[in-house]
Amino acid sequence: MPTTAILWLRRDLRLSDNPALTAALAQSERLIPVYIHAPDEEPPWQPGPASRWWLHQSLSALDQRLRELGSALLIRRGESLDVLRQLILETGATTVHWNRCYEPAMIARDSRIKQALRAEGIRCNSQNAALLSEPWELKTGAGEPYRVFTPYWRRLKVELAKLDDLADLDNRSTTPDALQPLPTPLETLRLEALELRPQIPWDQGLQANWQPGEAGARAELERFLSGPIGPYHEARDWPSERGTSRLSPHLHFGEISPRQILAAIRGRGIAAEVAEPFERELGWREFSYQLLYHFPHTPSEPLNPRFAQFPWRGGDTEPLLIAWQRGRTGIPIVDAGMRELWHSGWMHNRVRMIVASLLTKNLRLPWQEGARWFWDTLVDADLANNTQGWQWSAGCGADAAPYFRIFNPVLQGERFDAKGQYVRRWCPELARLPDQFIHQPWQAPASLLAQCVIRLGHDYPAPIVDLKQTRAEALAAYDQVKGST
Ligand code: FAD
Repeated sequence: MPTTAILWLRRDLRLSDNPALTAALAQSERLIPVYIHAPDEEPPWQPGPASRWWLHQSLSALDQRLRELGSALLIRRGESLDVLRQLILETGATTVHWNRCYEPAMIARDSRIKQALRAEGIRCNSQNAALLSEPWELKTGAGEPYRVFTPYWRRLKVELAKLDDLADLDNRSTTPDALQPLPTPLETLRLEALELRPQIPWDQGLQANWQPGEAGARAELERFLSGPIGPYHEARDWPSERGTSRLSPHLHFGEISPRQILAAIRGRGIAAEVAEPFERELGWREFSYQLLYHFPHTPSEPLNPRFAQFPWRGGDTEPLLIAWQRGRTGIPIVDAGMRELWHSGWMHNRVRMIVASLLTKNLRLPWQEGARWFWDTLVDADLANNTQGWQWSAGCGADAAPYFRIFNPVLQGERFDAKGQYVRRWCPELARLPDQFIHQPWQAPASLLAQCVIRLGHDYPAPIVDLKQTRAEALAAYDQVKGST
């Protein structure tokens, strides 16, 4: 009887540079690749609609790839431990291999499963496929987790310089040439049975913008690296340009590893100082994961406990929240961002910071509301990055831009979208406005608005808040918590 291993695929939906796959192939003659649908095991952060859409496409691409190699993806549904036990019974598998997930609920679940299976004589083998450094590895001189990015990055860079095996990862194929067929009969669900795709077809924008799966990730990386990476440090701030890698959903679903990205950069001989601004962003991702690991309460609670008492706006705040979600705040750069998100499942990082600042400071609505909306609408929704991004923007997280640093969305628009291309693309009702007023239509003379066929409050909303007044109110609210411990 050949030795059989189960490869439990989760957030590592690729065949290249997949450590669990490599270990399974090295140790066993037969491999059962399985995806277990168990969203209830991730409370309260079950994947939102945009993530589910991506997951469907990514699983389909993975299955196709496995079939090309002679195998296929088994799909099952139910409690992960029960499904694994059942599969062990059906196949005689003696080992289960997986790559680690780092969300608190997943860590707890995986530990439980490991303990239970080991007690039943099954070997469990888990690996790191998602991060450059395990979140528990790097500590400050005092043995504490890092709470400030810059020293963390300095330390991570030292570790990255030691990664010799990256040098040829880009050239060497880490994908198997062929796999054994699945033993028959093994029941599998059809992917459609998971009902990951929307019933109402709102996903055209997602279809048009993305190619989920390993090949799509590779193509996006090639696109990014085939342009000059040098201007990234500036181009990454211009939302109308395709100046960033757009790898975030591919990284989230593990269709590409950060090691593969670094290997590709080094393989092209890109100078370290040219690559640094981009690699630093991968460093932010690592930093976010180590924060989530050490402070597992932060998806719902501020890292800085003072902000637990923050006086958020009272009264009926729903109309403000809905206007923000729908891109109807009357502040063009914010509305453009929120509409880009709704249409494409993604938003430019600069604009994420602007819309988050407006929500948490001018509207003074809790950052958790924003994090939840992003969770449902982003294709790259990622508990570590989203939590860190929101807490950073709200000023209550690690290494926070102090709360009192409040973005002025008009100035931000004028600086990073000077010609208004981004706003014109997503808010076409403003397209005729000259550059001077594109970021503040309420300042345009009535005659000009009439000439541009814009009736504020009809064709485009009047601003839902006064930016100057709400800035002052936010600062006063901040004064209430800054002295408390
Ligand atoms: P690039 O600029 O090409 O960067 C490369 C990679 O580095 C990204 O793919 C991403 O994995 C990582 N990265 C870049 N910026 C950051 C950052 N600030 N923090 C952590 N990692 C980063 N990113 C997510 O992946 N998922 C989220 O749910 C998410 N929510 C956010 C919420 C807010 C309020 C803010 C301000 C930022 C959030 N980010 C999130 C971080 C960032 O906006 C995205 O990672 C980035 O816009 C993705 O585009 P890109 O792949 O082209 O990035």
